[in-house]
This record gives sequence, structure tokens and C-alpha cells, in this order.
Amino acid sequence: MSTGVSADLPPVPPVIADVPGQDHAVAFLARAVHRPAHAYLFSGPEGSGKRLAMRALAAALLCPHGGCGACRACRLALGERHSNMLVLEPAGPDILVGKDASDPNTARWLAAQAYLTPLEPGKKVLVVLQADRLRVEAADVLLKVLEEPPPETVFALLSARPDDLPDTIRSRCQQIAFPPLSEEFVVSTLVKEGLDPVRARLACRLAGGNLGRARRLARDERALDFRDVALKAAASARHGGTAAALAAAETLTAAAKEFRGRLGDELAADLAPFLDERGRPEDHFRSVIRRLEEQHERRLRRAEREFLDWSLLALAASYRDLVAIAAGGENLLINIDRPGELSAPPASQWSSGAAGLAMGAVEEARADLADETNLNPRLILERMFLRLAAHPAHA
Ligand SMILES: [Zn+2]
Repeated sequence: MSTGVSADLPPVPPVIADVPGQDHAVAFLARAVHRPAHAYLFSGPEGSGKRLAMRALAAALLCPHGGCGACRACRLALGERHSNMLVLEPAGPDILVGKDASDPNTARWLAAQAYLTPLEPGKKVLVVLQADRLRVEAADVLLKVLEEPPPETVFALLSARPDDLPDTIRSRCQQIAFPPLSEEFVVSTLVKEGLDPVRARLACRLAGGNLGRARRLARDERALDFRDVALKAAASARHGGTAAALAAAETLTAAAKEFRGRLGDELAADLAPFLDERGRPEDHFRSVIRRLEEQHERRLRRAEREFLDWSLLALAASYRDLVAIAAGGENLLINIDRPGELSAPPASQWSSGAAGLAMGAVEEARADLADETNLNPRLILERMFLRLAAHPAHA
């Protein structure tokens, strides 16, 4: 990692230099730390590192040493737990304007925070995650603050869909682009961390290039369970007709519930050291802890659908591999650890048309699941497995 020391450029703070795989953004942020603007828009797809970069910028602005990466202020900022760092994110589908400043996690709440004296001396960093989800009235409230920015306050808006933000907001922000990380970068990062190269590449492909998710998939032995559950369920649905298709939906639903249970334990363990470290939390930490608890609740609510989405993504990937095998494109496989072995019947019996149809059925189910207003996930799965059971391998 370059520290960027040269005659005309100030040194890159360690905490900024640690942002992986985004050299342009790092260079931009290193300059920004010395003369911060009032607002930044971090734009790029999920998993491109924009949230890490936002945390690093916050740490550099809040650290008494300019972003050492090691002190208490840096640790708290990197965990989004610094009391001068306030984070707004959608509690439901949208970010709402709120009744008044006391309405937590709303635009009015964040705007009011911008004008309050910070709890600790120094700057304040106000973050808006998924900023494209701001409702029009919420965006208007934030725009007023951006037009008359309070001193010592830096806004950081994050979005995977920056074009959905109102022009008025976008034009008040300096935009920092985070292009997707390359597969080679993700794989080499994981290999440097001591992970097996084949597993690292498999994890990268199953995670669609998202570094954080690829790391979890590659590190945790159980992290690929969802793929095995999904593929076994699909294979048994295929062999056993209607009853087996319904049983497959049941198996996958049960696995998703079990995942939710494990995640709940992990999140509780994640909060525990923070509480212990502080003993009884000081007053000004209460809101940070409450926010973490709210985040956990939201993650738990989404956990089952998330698990199902990974499962179906893996299933779609296995059919996509069958299409690739039928076309002789073995170097394009996603499931590189067990090419073609995962399917039932075996790869050699599939036509690419049949595999394409199966993939289509899975992708439709994923789209239905992604719509959170949609029916019971179990019904979506049942319909999908019934369709898979009905498709012959040679369509
Ligand atoms: Zn520091």
C-alpha cells in the first residue's frame, strides 16, 4: 500500500491508506482530509468499499492524530460508534422526513443534529446510508442543511444508485466514485489473508465480487451451507415430483430459519464486548447502542430472505454453469470447486436450453423474494421447485 508521500502531496493518513482496492478514491480522500468539503457523495455498487471509505474518512476527521487508525477515536469511528458520528439509514423501504427532531432515524432528526454542539470537541460527521432512498420531503430537509452548512460538520452520503438522488442534493456534494472491485483484486486480497486460492475465487464469484461477503464465504466453513442445501433440495425435487418439490421448499425454509437463529447469537456476541468495554454506557453512548440494536433487529428481520436469496443465487449459478458446460466454456464457471457435479441429473445430461429455463425459474423466484411486500417466501419457493420438477433436463 502506497503512503503517497511526495513533494506536493500531503501524506496519506494510515486509516485512509487501508481502504482496499480504490486508489483514486484513496487519493481523493487523502486530499479531502486536509480541507474537508461540507458534503461528499460516495457512489458505487454494494461491496465496492464505499462504506469502509466513509468510515475511514470519519476516523481521519475525528482522530486527534489525523487518522492513525489505532487510537480510541479511530476505533470508534471505524465501527460507526463515535459519538460525533451520526448515521441515518432507511428503517423501512424509505428514509422519512419525521415529525420533528426527536423522531429518531429521520431527516429532521439528522438535520437537528447538524446544528447541535458535538458531544466531544472537534468535527461532526453526519452519514446518510442508501441516500437514494430519501423521500422527497426528507431530501428537502437535508437540502436546507446542505445549503447553509453548519461549521465543523461534514456530510457523507452513500448510494449504489446516485442517479436516483435529486440533482439539488447531488450538486451540493463532491462525488467520490467507487467502481466494482475486480475479481483479481478480491481473490488476491483473500489469498494474502491466507485463504485457499480456489475457495477464494469460488467465494468471489458466488458473492458477485463483493469483498466483504466473499471474505465471509471463504473463511467460514458453514458459509457455503446455503449452496448445498439449495442444490440438494433442487435435486430431490427433480427426482420426486410434487411431494418432493413441496418438501424441498420446506427444507430450504427451515434452513433459513436456522440461519436466522445463528445470526441472532452472533449479533448478540457482537454487541457484548462494546457494552463490557464501556461498563455501564455513558449517557451519550446510549443512542449509539440503541442504533446498533435497531440495526441488529433489521438484519434479523431480513435474515431469512437474505439466506433464501443467497441459496437461489447459488442455484441459479449452478444452472448457469450447466449452460457454460454445454457451450464448452468451462473457464467461465462459478462453482469452480465442483464443476457440473452439483447438478442432478449430471451435467452431461443437460441441454443448455433446459438449464436456461431452470435458471429463469430461479431468477423469477429471486425477483419475487426481493419484493418485500410479496407473499409468503415459502409459497414462492414451492412454486419454483414445482417448476423445476416439471422441467426435463432435455427441454
Ligand atoms: Zn486515531
